Amino acid sequence: MDRKHFIRKSLKYTTLLKSHLKGSLFNSVNFVRIIPTDRCNLNCAYCWQKDDSSDEMSLVAFRNYLDKAIRLDVGLITILGGEPMLWDGIYEAIAACTEKNVLSDMTTNGTLLNRESITMLAESGLDYLNISTDGLKISSVSKKNNLGS
Ligand code: SF4
Repeated sequence: MDRKHFIRKSLKYTTLLKSHLKGSLFNSVNFVRIIPTDRCNLNCAYCWQKDDSSDEMSLVAFRNYLDKAIRLDVGLITILGGEPMLWDGIYEAIAACTEKNVLSDMTTNGTLLNRESITMLAESGLDYLNISTDGLKISSVSKKNNLGS
């Protein structure tokens, strides 16, 4: 980890620590989940979230939510979907969290991850990457397990 990266990480965890301290003392919010899109490139049988016809969040709206979260001393922004990697603003949104010293976390079905996208996520400053799966075998219920098939 280079010096600039180390300093940025330290500032983010300082924000999270302050957030937790405030949360412990005043019962305030520590983290916020944001769903910028309900669109998804898979079609799991049990899914209640996917909606390819729904409107997506604009980057301006994301920044407004982020600013509001910062005013409330939130220390972690979690980005979910749908499939968040389908959202055009994903890299800029993560970079906006990084600029404001707020930790970011994203949950994806993993299908759109490749060397290039992972590099861009890292350069944007993503702190936590969760890959959602439902098991190791292909099933008729979950389409998440078809990676590499
Ligand atoms: S990957 Fe997730 S959002 Fe997409 S269809 Fe499956 S459960 Fe729904």
